[in-house]
Amino acid sequence: MTDHYINGKKIDDLEIIISSEQINTRVREMAELISKDYSGKRPLLIGVLKGAVIFLSDLIRYLTITVEIDFIAVSSYGNSTASSGVVRILKDLEQSIQGKDVLIVEDIVDTGLTLNYLVDNLGSRQPYSLKVVTLLDKPDRRKVVLEPDYCGFTIPDRFVIGYGLDYGEDFRQLADLRVLDE
Ligand code: 5GP
Repeated sequence: MTDHYINGKKIDDLEIIISSEQINTRVREMAELISKDYSGKRPLLIGVLKGAVIFLSDLIRYLTITVEIDFIAVSSYGNSTASSGVVRILKDLEQSIQGKDVLIVEDIVDTGLTLNYLVDNLGSRQPYSLKVVTLLDKPDRRKVVLEPDYCGFTIPDRFVIGYGLDYGEDFRQLADLRVLDE
């Protein structure tokens, strides 16, 4: 149990939507599936900063194949972005992905606009293959047709924090996924 406050909120009072034990079990299952699907290959996992950092770190430790990792950071342009899907790259990859088996690793897919942009952008760099891994999927709010190839949990339209996901940069370090209803 956590007995502390972050940003004025008592952590224990926030509903746990997915516990750290459930996350751990599911991340292990996902890693087994990815290891099987990419057997004999050496995929490049691209973590989308910052939310996917903890998920990526846990996922790769359960993989039984060799992988490379890299990171990309993107940001949306205010409110207009929500409808336009315009995304800005804040930090690009360190390497070419041409000819590589690439897996984009996301924390959560909500409207799908961020991922849609990333799939288009990274897809144009001529990877051999390109797939999407997400810990969480919130399909209720989807604005584009986009189905992650690997998904940990499908959740209802609630704002979740913890396990890498933030609210104003707070709460990322929580082990459980909790609901922050404003
Ligand atoms: P999308 O472009 O799919 O609408 O947005 C994806 C991004 O929005 C995620 O990578 C994440 O940063 C943020 N996001 C969407 N839903 C949630 C949520 O429930 N909690 C948190 N902390 N971030 C979210």
